[in-house]
Amino acid sequence: MATFLFDKIIFGPVQSRRLGVSLGINLLPTDYKFCNFDCIYCECGYTFPEKFRKHPFHSRAEVRTELEKVLLKMQSDNNLPNYISFAGNGEPTLHPEFSEIISDTVELRNRIAPQAKIAVLSNATQAHKPAVREALLKADDCILKLDSGIDDTMQRMNGVSKSFTVEKIIEALKQFEGKAIIQTMFLKGCYNDIYIDNTTETEIETWLGAMRQIAPRKIMIYTIDRETPAAGLEKISAQKLNEIADRARHVGFDVQVSV
Ligand code: SF4
Repeated sequence: MATFLFDKIIFGPVQSRRLGVSLGINLLPTDYKFCNFDCIYCECGYTFPEKFRKHPFHSRAEVRTELEKVLLKMQSDNNLPNYISFAGNGEPTLHPEFSEIISDTVELRNRIAPQAKIAVLSNATQAHKPAVREALLKADDCILKLDSGIDDTMQRMNGVSKSFTVEKIIEALKQFEGKAIIQTMFLKGCYNDIYIDNTTETEIETWLGAMRQIAPRKIMIYTIDRETPAAGLEKISAQKLNEIADRARHVGFDVQVSV
Protein backbone atom coordinates (compact mmCIF):
# COMPACT_ATOMS: atom_id res chain seq x y z
CA MET A 1 0.00 0.00 0.00
CA ALA A 2 1.75 3.18 -1.20
CA THR A 3 -0.57 5.93 -0.07
CA PHE A 4 0.79 9.39 0.74
CA LEU A 5 0.16 12.60 2.69
CA PHE A 6 0.78 16.19 1.63
CA ASP A 7 3.47 17.62 3.90
CA LYS A 8 2.66 21.30 3.40
CA ILE A 9 -0.29 23.71 3.64
CA ILE A 10 0.25 24.78 0.02
CA PHE A 11 1.41 22.03 -2.30
CA GLY A 12 2.28 21.71 -5.95
CA PRO A 13 1.51 22.92 -8.45
CA VAL A 14 0.56 19.41 -9.53
CA GLN A 15 -0.72 18.18 -12.88
CA SER A 16 -4.22 17.04 -12.00
CA ARG A 17 -6.18 14.57 -14.14
CA ARG A 18 -9.26 16.70 -13.80
CA LEU A 19 -8.05 20.29 -13.24
CA GLY A 20 -4.84 20.74 -15.21
CA VAL A 21 -2.04 22.68 -13.44
CA SER A 22 -3.36 22.98 -9.93
CA LEU A 23 -1.94 24.63 -6.81
CA GLY A 24 -3.25 22.70 -3.82
CA ILE A 25 -4.38 23.94 -0.43
CA ASN A 26 -4.31 21.45 2.41
CA LEU A 27 -6.29 22.72 5.41
CA LEU A 28 -5.74 19.44 7.23
CA PRO A 29 -2.80 18.17 9.28
CA THR A 30 0.38 17.34 7.41
CA ASP A 31 1.20 14.23 9.46
CA TYR A 32 -2.08 12.30 9.34
CA LYS A 33 -5.37 12.21 7.46
CA PHE A 34 -8.31 14.05 9.02
CA CYS A 35 -11.59 13.02 7.45
CA ASN A 36 -15.05 11.88 8.50
CA PHE A 37 -15.00 9.35 5.63
CA ASP A 38 -12.75 6.32 5.36
CA CYS A 39 -12.90 5.62 1.64
CA ILE A 40 -11.45 2.26 0.68
CA TYR A 41 -9.71 3.95 -2.27
CA CYS A 42 -8.39 7.06 -0.47
CA GLU A 43 -4.96 8.05 -1.75
CA CYS A 44 -4.10 9.32 1.76
CA GLY A 45 -4.65 5.86 3.24
CA TYR A 46 -7.14 4.72 5.87
CA THR A 47 -8.58 7.09 8.46
CA PHE A 48 -7.28 6.52 12.00
CA PRO A 49 -9.50 8.52 14.40
CA GLU A 50 -7.21 7.58 17.31
CA LYS A 51 -4.59 9.88 15.73
CA PHE A 52 -6.93 12.89 15.68
CA ARG A 53 -5.65 15.83 17.73
CA LYS A 54 -7.89 18.36 19.46
CA HIS A 55 -6.82 21.25 17.23
CA PRO A 56 -5.87 19.63 13.94
CA PHE A 57 -6.19 22.57 11.58
CA HIS A 58 -3.85 25.19 10.18
CA SER A 59 -5.06 28.64 11.20
CA ARG A 60 -6.74 30.97 8.76
CA ALA A 61 -3.80 33.43 9.10
CA GLU A 62 -1.25 30.69 8.33
CA VAL A 63 -3.16 29.56 5.25
CA ARG A 64 -3.50 33.11 3.97
CA THR A 65 0.16 33.95 4.52
CA GLU A 66 1.40 30.76 2.88
CA LEU A 67 -0.94 31.07 -0.10
CA GLU A 68 -0.02 34.71 -0.70
CA LYS A 69 3.70 33.88 -0.53
CA VAL A 70 3.43 31.03 -3.05
CA LEU A 71 1.16 32.95 -5.44
CA LEU A 72 3.49 35.97 -5.44
CA LYS A 73 6.45 33.70 -6.21
CA MET A 74 4.52 32.03 -9.03
CA GLN A 75 3.54 35.45 -10.35
CA SER A 76 7.16 36.61 -10.41
CA ASP A 77 8.11 33.36 -12.18
CA ASN A 78 5.31 33.95 -14.71
CA ASN A 79 3.99 30.53 -13.79
CA LEU A 80 0.54 31.05 -12.29
CA PRO A 81 -1.72 27.98 -11.96
CA ASN A 82 -4.94 27.15 -13.83
CA TYR A 83 -6.58 26.18 -10.55
CA ILE A 84 -6.23 26.80 -6.84
CA SER A 85 -7.72 23.65 -5.31
CA PHE A 86 -8.76 22.74 -1.82
CA ALA A 87 -7.90 19.08 -1.42
CA GLY A 88 -5.12 17.55 0.69
CA ASN A 89 -5.15 15.20 3.65
CA GLY A 90 -8.86 14.91 4.30
CA GLU A 91 -12.07 16.91 4.18
CA PRO A 92 -11.55 20.70 3.85
CA THR A 93 -15.07 21.72 4.90
CA LEU A 94 -14.43 20.34 8.40
CA HIS A 95 -12.20 23.37 9.03
CA PRO A 96 -14.12 25.70 11.39
CA GLU A 97 -12.97 28.75 9.40
CA PHE A 98 -13.62 27.25 5.99
CA SER A 99 -15.90 30.13 4.93
CA GLU A 100 -13.38 32.79 5.90
CA ILE A 101 -10.54 30.92 4.20
CA ILE A 102 -12.55 30.70 0.99
CA SER A 103 -13.14 34.48 1.14
CA ASP A 104 -9.39 35.08 1.66
CA THR A 105 -8.60 32.80 -1.27
CA VAL A 106 -11.02 34.62 -3.55
CA GLU A 107 -9.42 37.93 -2.58
CA LEU A 108 -5.86 36.64 -3.19
CA ARG A 109 -6.87 35.01 -6.47
CA ASN A 110 -8.52 38.21 -7.71
CA ARG A 111 -5.45 40.26 -6.80
CA ILE A 112 -2.58 37.97 -7.84
CA ALA A 113 -3.88 35.25 -10.16
CA PRO A 114 -7.13 36.50 -11.70
CA GLN A 115 -7.08 33.84 -14.45
CA ALA A 116 -7.02 30.98 -11.95
CA LYS A 117 -10.19 29.19 -10.93
CA ILE A 118 -10.86 28.05 -7.40
CA ALA A 119 -11.99 24.45 -6.86
CA VAL A 120 -13.01 22.63 -3.70
CA LEU A 121 -13.03 18.85 -3.60
CA SER A 122 -15.34 17.76 -0.81
CA ASN A 123 -17.16 14.67 0.40
CA ALA A 124 -20.35 16.75 0.78
CA THR A 125 -20.93 15.75 4.40
CA GLN A 126 -21.09 19.40 5.52
CA ALA A 127 -22.91 20.62 2.42
CA HIS A 128 -26.27 20.71 4.23
CA LYS A 129 -24.98 23.56 6.44
CA PRO A 130 -25.96 26.93 4.94
CA ALA A 131 -22.63 28.62 5.79
CA VAL A 132 -20.64 25.79 4.18
CA ARG A 133 -22.90 25.75 1.13
CA GLU A 134 -22.54 29.51 0.73
CA ALA A 135 -18.75 29.20 0.96
CA LEU A 136 -18.63 26.30 -1.49
CA LEU A 137 -20.65 28.35 -3.94
CA LYS A 138 -18.02 31.11 -3.87
CA ALA A 139 -15.62 28.65 -5.51
CA ASP A 140 -15.72 28.43 -9.30
CA ASP A 141 -16.02 24.65 -9.03
CA CYS A 142 -17.43 22.92 -5.96
CA ILE A 143 -16.82 19.26 -6.67
CA LEU A 144 -18.87 17.07 -4.36
CA LYS A 145 -18.68 13.33 -3.94
CA LEU A 146 -21.46 10.82 -4.55
CA ASP A 147 -20.08 7.36 -5.31
CA SER A 148 -23.34 5.43 -5.51
CA GLY A 149 -27.08 5.87 -5.37
CA ILE A 150 -27.36 2.77 -3.16
CA ASP A 151 -26.78 3.11 0.59
CA ASP A 152 -24.90 -0.18 1.10
CA THR A 153 -22.46 0.55 -1.72
CA MET A 154 -21.90 4.16 -0.72
CA GLN A 155 -21.40 3.19 2.94
CA ARG A 156 -18.90 0.46 2.01
CA MET A 157 -16.96 2.58 -0.48
CA ASN A 158 -16.78 5.61 1.82
CA GLY A 159 -16.41 3.73 5.11
CA VAL A 160 -19.34 5.42 6.82
CA SER A 161 -22.04 4.20 9.18
CA LYS A 162 -25.59 3.22 8.25
CA SER A 163 -26.85 6.56 9.57
CA PHE A 164 -25.21 8.27 6.60
CA THR A 165 -27.61 7.79 3.71
CA VAL A 166 -27.75 8.64 0.03
CA GLU A 167 -31.08 10.34 0.61
CA LYS A 168 -29.49 12.82 3.05
CA ILE A 169 -26.69 13.64 0.61
CA ILE A 170 -29.14 14.11 -2.26
CA GLU A 171 -31.25 16.46 -0.14
CA ALA A 172 -28.16 18.55 0.65
CA LEU A 173 -26.97 18.58 -2.96
CA LYS A 174 -30.36 19.62 -4.30
CA GLN A 175 -29.90 22.88 -2.36
CA PHE A 176 -27.07 23.79 -4.75
CA GLU A 177 -29.73 24.36 -7.42
CA GLY A 178 -27.70 22.99 -10.30
CA LYS A 179 -24.43 24.74 -9.44
CA ALA A 180 -22.55 21.76 -7.96
CA ILE A 181 -20.27 19.40 -9.81
CA ILE A 182 -20.66 15.78 -8.74
CA GLN A 183 -17.66 13.46 -8.70
CA THR A 184 -18.09 9.69 -8.73
CA MET A 185 -15.37 7.09 -8.29
CA PHE A 186 -16.12 3.87 -10.15
CA LEU A 187 -14.39 0.69 -9.05
CA LYS A 188 -14.92 -2.98 -8.36
CA GLY A 189 -13.31 -5.58 -6.15
CA CYS A 190 -13.49 -7.42 -2.90
CA TYR A 191 -13.34 -5.63 0.42
CA ASN A 192 -13.84 -7.42 3.76
CA ASP A 193 -15.07 -10.48 1.81
CA ILE A 194 -17.82 -8.48 0.14
CA TYR A 195 -17.74 -7.84 -3.58
CA ILE A 196 -18.33 -4.21 -4.56
CA ASP A 197 -19.03 -3.07 -8.11
CA ASN A 198 -20.71 0.30 -8.62
CA THR A 199 -20.86 -0.15 -12.41
CA THR A 200 -23.61 -2.81 -12.53
CA GLU A 201 -26.85 -2.05 -14.34
CA THR A 202 -28.73 -1.55 -11.06
CA GLU A 203 -26.00 0.74 -9.77
CA ILE A 204 -25.91 2.90 -12.90
CA GLU A 205 -29.70 3.21 -13.08
CA THR A 206 -29.87 4.23 -9.40
CA TRP A 207 -26.93 6.60 -9.77
CA LEU A 208 -28.57 8.27 -12.79
CA GLY A 209 -31.76 8.63 -10.73
CA ALA A 210 -29.75 10.42 -8.03
CA MET A 211 -28.16 12.69 -10.65
CA ARG A 212 -31.60 13.57 -12.04
CA GLN A 213 -32.65 14.71 -8.58
CA ILE A 214 -29.48 16.71 -7.92
CA ALA A 215 -29.28 18.16 -11.46
CA PRO A 216 -25.55 18.99 -11.26
CA ARG A 217 -23.85 21.48 -13.57
CA LYS A 218 -21.38 18.79 -14.48
CA ILE A 219 -20.46 15.21 -13.55
CA MET A 220 -16.87 14.02 -13.20
CA ILE A 221 -16.31 10.28 -13.31
CA TYR A 222 -13.02 8.58 -12.68
CA THR A 223 -11.46 5.40 -11.43
CA ILE A 224 -8.52 4.30 -9.32
CA ASP A 225 -5.25 5.91 -10.38
CA ARG A 226 -2.80 4.90 -7.66
CA GLU A 227 -2.49 2.17 -5.06
CA THR A 228 -5.40 2.03 -2.63
CA PRO A 229 -5.39 1.28 1.12
CA ALA A 230 -7.73 -1.67 0.50
CA ALA A 231 -6.08 -4.44 -1.48
CA GLY A 232 -8.09 -6.20 -4.19
CA LEU A 233 -9.73 -3.17 -5.80
CA GLU A 234 -9.69 -2.91 -9.57
CA LYS A 235 -9.76 -0.06 -12.05
CA ILE A 236 -12.75 0.28 -14.34
CA SER A 237 -11.79 0.22 -18.01
CA ALA A 238 -11.86 3.40 -20.09
CA GLN A 239 -14.44 1.73 -22.34
CA LYS A 240 -16.80 1.09 -19.42
CA LEU A 241 -16.35 4.61 -18.04
CA ASN A 242 -17.13 6.04 -21.46
CA GLU A 243 -20.27 3.88 -21.69
CA ILE A 244 -21.43 5.24 -18.32
CA ALA A 245 -20.61 8.79 -19.44
CA ASP A 246 -22.58 8.33 -22.66
CA ARG A 247 -25.63 7.18 -20.72
CA ALA A 248 -25.42 10.26 -18.50
CA ARG A 249 -24.91 12.51 -21.54
CA HIS A 250 -27.99 10.92 -23.10
CA VAL A 251 -29.97 12.18 -20.09
CA GLY A 252 -28.52 15.64 -20.79
CA PHE A 253 -25.58 15.92 -18.40
CA ASP A 254 -22.18 17.40 -19.14
CA VAL A 255 -19.79 14.58 -18.21
CA GLN A 256 -16.00 14.57 -17.86
CA VAL A 257 -14.21 11.22 -17.82
CA SER A 258 -10.73 10.86 -16.28
CA VAL A 259 -8.87 7.62 -16.79
S1 SF4 B 1 -13.52 11.79 1.42
FE1 SF4 B 1 -11.61 12.10 0.32
S2 SF4 B 1 -10.07 12.42 1.93
FE2 SF4 B 1 -11.86 11.55 2.92
S3 SF4 B 1 -11.47 9.35 2.96
FE3 SF4 B 1 -12.63 9.79 1.09
S4 SF4 B 1 -11.13 10.10 -0.52
FE4 SF4 B 1 -10.05 10.25 1.45
